Amino acid sequence: MRADTFRVVSTAALAGLLLVGCGTGTSSESSAPTDAASTTTSAGAPASSAPSGAAAADADTTTADSLDVVVNKQNPLDPADYTPDPLVAIEGQQLRGDAAEALETMLEDMRAEDITVSVTSAYRSYDTQVSTYDHWVQQNGQVTADRISARPGYSEHQTGLAVDLADGSGCDLQVCFSKTRAAQWAADNAFEYGFVLRFPEGKESITGYAYEPWHFRYIGRDQAEQFHASGAKTLEEFYGTGAAADYIS
Ligand SMILES: [Zn+2]
Repeated sequence: MRADTFRVVSTAALAGLLLVGCGTGTSSESSAPTDAASTTTSAGAPASSAPSGAAAADADTTTADSLDVVVNKQNPLDPADYTPDPLVAIEGQQLRGDAAEALETMLEDMRAEDITVSVTSAYRSYDTQVSTYDHWVQQNGQVTADRISARPGYSEHQTGLAVDLADGSGCDLQVCFSKTRAAQWAADNAFEYGFVLRFPEGKESITGYAYEPWHFRYIGRDQAEQFHASGAKTLEEFYGTGAAADYIS
């Protein structure tokens, strides 16, 4: 939604790999992961997996307003131009109120430990995603655009429940962010605030997105604690919604 998003992206040499989940996505066959996780086929294995707990089994993963909504290349938002209401301002961005409150507490606790952390992106509207995606199509063509920018209606950021953390140390929106104190603290503790790491390493064939150590998704504290305890690494596995390596169309 913001011009600086473009600047960050355009200056990141690896943006094509780094921003996919952040709204972005992609589906080109050429980007199909080749790691061990790819042994799970896109249509497949997780779809037949049972959810990881009673709460997950009862979860509403398809309604846009649900804290349990699973948005990925197989499950676009419905309606595609869904707008969460209300949205609350936080750190110069916007999130749904419950997510914003949890994030505020988490950031306070991080900063209390002298961890540098900021929020580079949170809610992004459908219209913003249209502009962002079109920009990349014009710049690079659709195949490349699909590797760095989500198609409108398929971005988790549009739920108002996703947040991208940063610390300004030179690794923002890059995999090396994983080595920062902010990322490591969040990876270990975010579940206690209701957030889960949405695109973990080695799960591209399930989530449809490369590793994004900066992108966290709010699902509520109780659910996040169950997610953590379950051993699941992705929301697709936790809820049993099936893999989403590629777009439905
Ligand atoms: Zn993101």
